[in-house]
Amino acid sequence: MRIVVKVGTSTLAHGTGRLNIRQVEKLCKALSDLKNAGHQVVLVSSGAIGMGVGKLSLNNRPADMPTKQAAAAVGQCELMYVYDKLFGEYNHVVAQILLTGDDLEHEDRKHNFENTVFRLLELGALPVINENDTIATQEIAVGDNDTLGAIVAASVRADLLVVLSDIDGLYTANPKADPEARVIPVVWELTPEIWALAGDKGSELATGGMVTKLRAAEIATQSGVTMVIANGRRPENLYDIVDGRDVGTRFLGRNRA
Ligand code: GLU
Repeated sequence: MRIVVKVGTSTLAHGTGRLNIRQVEKLCKALSDLKNAGHQVVLVSSGAIGMGVGKLSLNNRPADMPTKQAAAAVGQCELMYVYDKLFGEYNHVVAQILLTGDDLEHEDRKHNFENTVFRLLELGALPVINENDTIATQEIAVGDNDTLGAIVAASVRADLLVVLSDIDGLYTANPKADPEARVIPVVWELTPEIWALAGDKGSELATGGMVTKLRAAEIATQSGVTMVIANGRRPENLYDIVDGRDVGTRFLGRNRA
């Protein structure tokens, strides 16, 4: 299987912006094992800005663009250093690809990107993709890595997109307010009722970014890619997800033409 895994800052770093070593080690171990089992893996990783904040010892996440871009430049470097080191322990080679929304809208650039990923996968490498935050101002950015993960999964014709987040999946109600709230195991179609569950931007659930996750699910499933949202605190869940077991919420991809 060709699997794209998107991992968010909340999985990779502590609130301080410093690396969550235990979590990242578990993630790299599971992804290495999936590669050893013969799967092709592409990682879409956030964390550049967060880790730059930690590395530069800034007090909090910057609000202004130049500091954000500077933090991303520092943090991206740190991120790749960590991936290179941890995947290297399992004899896997990583490759860095940085993209902007603009790149993906130009046919020739998108084509070059796809060719590079396919070649890297043939060579047995593990592409690690992030938004090119140092140049991606609002006008040209994809904007969030859930969407980037879905676009990448669609372009490389992945069989599965796994979005690892700080939430267990899509709930029947707001889990912070309703003790009866349950994770929905399978979503066959993105109906208005499903969209309503993601809540408004200001709601509790939306702080987990459920709206962007449903948008990602829309892009992925329409391209025939099944997407799973699961909790990144347990990267070992990836084995069950790949085996098709019920973990998190699975959005079934439409049949490919
Ligand atoms: N590209 C951003 C970063 O690496 C993250 C964007 C996102 O997580 O949606 O910090």
